[in-house]
Amino acid sequence: MHLARFPRVSLAHLPTPLEHLPRLSEHLGGPQIWVKRDDCTGLASGGNKTRKLEFAMAAALAAGADTIVTVGAVQSNHVRQTAAAAAKLGLACEVLLENRIGEPSDVYAESGNVLLDRLFGAALHRYPGGTDFAAEMEAHAERIRGGGGTPYIIPGGASNAVGALGYVNCAMELLAQANERGLVIDHLVTATGSAGTQAGLAVGLRATHSRVPLLGIGVSAAQALQERKVFELAEETAELIGAPDVVSREDVVANCDYVGEAYGVPTPEMNAAILTLARLEGILFDPVYSGKALAGLFDLVRRGFFAGASNVVFLHTGGSAALFAYADQLAFD
Ligand SMILES: *Cc1c(COP(=O)(O)O)cnc(C)c1O
Repeated sequence: MHLARFPRVSLAHLPTPLEHLPRLSEHLGGPQIWVKRDDCTGLASGGNKTRKLEFAMAAALAAGADTIVTVGAVQSNHVRQTAAAAAKLGLACEVLLENRIGEPSDVYAESGNVLLDRLFGAALHRYPGGTDFAAEMEAHAERIRGGGGTPYIIPGGASNAVGALGYVNCAMELLAQANERGLVIDHLVTATGSAGTQAGLAVGLRATHSRVPLLGIGVSAAQALQERKVFELAEETAELIGAPDVVSREDVVANCDYVGEAYGVPTPEMNAAILTLARLEGILFDPVYSGKALAGLFDLVRRGFFAGASNVVFLHTGGSAALFAYADQLAFD
C-alpha cells in the first residue's frame, strides 16, 4: 500500500494529536481512554471529512472541475468542510441540503454549520428528506455543464473509495503514534454514518496487519444495513489501493444501539456524555455523531465489553459547530 500514488491536496493539520483522557478513564472505571483528535484537523474548525477531502478534492482538480456539487443533512459537517475546501482551492460549491429533521427550528435551520457554509460562500439548495439525491446531484451537474462549467460530484460524507483513502491514511498515522510511544491499542472506536471513516480505517488496520479491533457506533442506520454499507465500501477501497480481499466481513462490526429515535435527534445519553467530556476533559463533542458514539462507548465500558483491555482509542470525528444549532435542545445540568 502506497498512498503517495494517489493525487492529494493538503487541507488538514496532520498528524492530529493522540491524547490520554485520565479524568474520563477514572470516571468510567474501565480501560484507559485515549482520543485521536480528528476534531483538530484544522480546516473550518476541523472534523473527519477533511482527511477524505484531501483525496476527493485532488480528484476534482485532476478532472478539471470548477464547481463542486455535494449533499448533506442541514447540519452537515461534511458540507461545512467541503465548502471551506472549495473556497481554499478557488472552486464554486453547490450544496444540496436534506432536511432529515421533522420540524426544524430556526436555530437548527440557520445556525451552526449552516452559518459557516454561507460564510464560506457555498450556494445552498434545500430539499425534503428522502429526496433522490443521486438523481438531483446529476441534474444539478447537468445544469452546470449547460452553463459551460465543469462540475464534480462528491457524494455525501465524501464516502466513496477515494475519500476513504483519508482514513486508510489515518490508521497508519495512529499506528505510527502508538508505536512511537509504546502504546498497545486494544480497541479503536469511531462513530459511523456514511461509512467512509470506518471503511478506510478497517482497510488501513488490516493492510498493516495491526490486529487492532475496530468498532463503529452507528448514528443512523440499523446494524445489518450499516455493516453492509461499511463492508462494501471497504472492499472498494481495498481494491483501489491494490489489496483486494484484505478486509473480510468479520472485520466490520457496528453497534447501532445508540441511535435513539432517529438520525440527528438528541438522546439523554448523548447529552450526558457531551457534558461529561466538557466538564472532565474540556473537550467538545457533537449531538449528532461523536456525542452518540461517546454515549455508546460509556455504556459499553459499563457493560464490560472492553474487559481485559488496557487501552481504548476513541476517534473524535469532530462536529462541535453543530452544538450551536442544537442550543435549544440540550440540557446543561
Ligand atoms: C460525518 C461524520 C461522522 C461519520 O463519518 P462517516 O465517514 O460518514 O461514517 C462522524 N462524526 C462526525 C462529526 C461527522 O461529521
